[in-house]
Amino acid sequence: MSKRKEEWGPHSHCIICGKAIPEGEKTCSEECKKKYEEELKRYKQQQTISYIFIIIMIVFILFLFLFPYFR
Ligand SMILES: [Zn+2]
Repeated sequence: MSKRKEEWGPHSHCIICGKAIPEGEKTCSEECKKKYEEELKRYKQQQTISYIFIIIMIVFILFLFLFPYFR
């Protein structure tokens, strides 16, 4: 039990630079917040692209399976 740990109390770390921040916060500064939001946007875009890709693949596979019945 160190006193230093008690001083810090419950806290989070900035998800961009790793700095200690109050619990419940995600980032330490506006700069990191902007970076985080950009990364989140990019991540969501990538997710959307992969969903579209999966749907296209499913449609393609279904088409391949069902094609003989259409003739
Ligand atoms: Zn930060």
